[in-house]
Amino acid sequence: MDIKAEDLKILFSEDQIQTKIKEIAAELNTLYGSEEVYAICVLKGAVFFAIDLVKHLNMPLKMEFIRLSSYGSGFASSGKVNAVDISLPDLNGKNVLIIEDIIDTGLTAKFLMDFMHCNFKTKSTKFCSLLDKKITRKTDIEPDYYGFEIDNKFVVGYGLDYEGYYRNLKYIGYVEEK
Ligand code: 5GP
Repeated sequence: MDIKAEDLKILFSEDQIQTKIKEIAAELNTLYGSEEVYAICVLKGAVFFAIDLVKHLNMPLKMEFIRLSSYGSGFASSGKVNAVDISLPDLNGKNVLIIEDIIDTGLTAKFLMDFMHCNFKTKSTKFCSLLDKKITRKTDIEPDYYGFEIDNKFVVGYGLDYEGYYRNLKYIGYVEEK
């Protein structure tokens, strides 16, 4: 299947996404108070979510960006996570907030949580994802915070791509199966 712009249906509008982000930010502001946080954005998909989320966070915050890949091209996860660039500062004793676009099989999230535990003794490590496809999970990973639970749909927009396209949409869309 090819995704054509005219076939996209809106799953979550710009307003729904922004409202949800404010709700998550309020929870994180309560959790961390005035403690410093290292927000780690997983490129490329989470960049829109991460940037919008951190604008609503009130604590002292540093941002880091790492790049992983698990989807080659098309719709299915390759089942393998590749660390394209995972250089991080010393996170020992720090509050770490990992920000993802979507958890699907959970392999990426598991890889990241294992990476954190193997490399650092953080003060805390929390995982926050805008979308959660619980139904396709192949690991026992659950995000600490998530925006919306979705069914087994391939979604695009607001950072999520199809073969590199559609990241720039303000909404999250999908193609209805006929
Ligand atoms: P997981 O490792 O949990 O299977 O997959 C996580 C990554 O797969 C996400 O960061 C995202 O890049 C990609 N992914 C999973 N589901 C979708 C989807 O429905 N649409 C798009 N565009 N990417 C997805």
